[in-house]
Amino acid sequence: MIDVKLFCTKCNKEFSANQVHIICDVCNEALEVETVKQGKICEGNVLEQSIMERYKAFFPWLPIDHETSLGEGFTALVESKKIAKELGLDKLYFKNETQNPTWSFKDRGTLTGVLHAIKLGYKKIGTVSTGNMAVSVAAYGSKANLETFVFVNKSMAAEKLNPIAIYDPHLIKVEGDYGNLYYKSLEIGKENDIYFINSDVPFRVEGYKTLAYEICEQLNFEIPDYVVVPTSAGGNIRGIEKGFEEFKNAGYIDQVPTMICAQASGCSPIDKAYHDEEENITRFENPHTIAHAIENAFPPSGNQVLRKLRQKGGLFVSVTDEEIVKAQAMLAKEGLLVQPASAVPLAAVKKLREEKKLKGNEKIACVLTGSGLKYTAAFEKHDLKSTDCKLEELSTFITKNY
Ligand SMILES: *Cc1c(COP(=O)(O)O)cnc(C)c1O
Ligand SMILES: [Zn+2]
Repeated sequence: MIDVKLFCTKCNKEFSANQVHIICDVCNEALEVETVKQGKICEGNVLEQSIMERYKAFFPWLPIDHETSLGEGFTALVESKKIAKELGLDKLYFKNETQNPTWSFKDRGTLTGVLHAIKLGYKKIGTVSTGNMAVSVAAYGSKANLETFVFVNKSMAAEKLNPIAIYDPHLIKVEGDYGNLYYKSLEIGKENDIYFINSDVPFRVEGYKTLAYEICEQLNFEIPDYVVVPTSAGGNIRGIEKGFEEFKNAGYIDQVPTMICAQASGCSPIDKAYHDEEENITRFENPHTIAHAIENAFPPSGNQVLRKLRQKGGLFVSVTDEEIVKAQAMLAKEGLLVQPASAVPLAAVKKLREEKKLKGNEKIACVLTGSGLKYTAAFEKHDLKSTDCKLEELSTFITKNY
């Protein structure tokens, strides 16, 4: 295992990775693990490998540990025919992250975060989350035998609470401003030797690189022109972009796809800052959207996403709840059940296509971040039908009606 440095994405100040550092102590900006300059995919049978084994050259500072993996990653990249045709697109793909152990992409970053915690000798981990990340950290905490703390909102519904509680972490419903809980948890972590593997901590972001590596391999290194990511804290889009950059450094690809930061118009602080031509994001007032998983009014990596995408010509889009629900139904018609947040990329692509910002000949990949079974309340937004019939009448009923 080699040593690695963290650096501030704004002022470039260096930090050691032998301690938990989350944000820059000078400018409060996100820290990032230095970029891997070269590396090779560890060829082999993916049925026998973990993502950490296959891509270990790109994580030279993490231990490979079979005890910690739950079989995350290696998710399908599904090519769309129906929706692609409907939107007039030649090539449209869906990266189906609902196939992960706790049904969202968060598992990739939880794994690398937990491995870093183990490497540093931590016995306690934690997270602040409204849903998917809490489930993920609780599951990996169980698997790795770490004492696990999960801070959630006081008002969290039982439907979302129980899938966390089943893993038996210290589950604490916190009353008060949820926005400040992220920063509070970092203090508490320092005082109590708890490694908070929150939304955009550097070693969580690292895990998300694997999503990009897989897309490259699945497309035989003929990368998409655009990758669309539903963005909240900003950890996922940062990790995916970094993954493509590292594969470029390694010589696997010549270019990096253009990233599209997709948000819900009910909570779109990054999109807003971009279109208002602001240098920094500001807290989004009265956030409200059906896409709960991306309802972060003051995303900790917001400024970094803004800087990075501006510098690279990335796009920013936001879509209404109505457009999100429509996209969720479209995906189901193609056999994919995702939660509202994960339908945001498709809604964004549809919008960009209608506005003629996409010509139709581009190759596009949408990241389907999490499962539709995670948020069943969204079913009520659809006109879902079923028919009653008696057994003795079933035969005639079918011949007559269909
Ligand atoms: C966490 C989450 C996101 C947002 O990811 P960030 O890293 O916070 O930007 C998007 N979709 C789903 C389903 C999520 O759970
Ligand atoms: Zn700094």
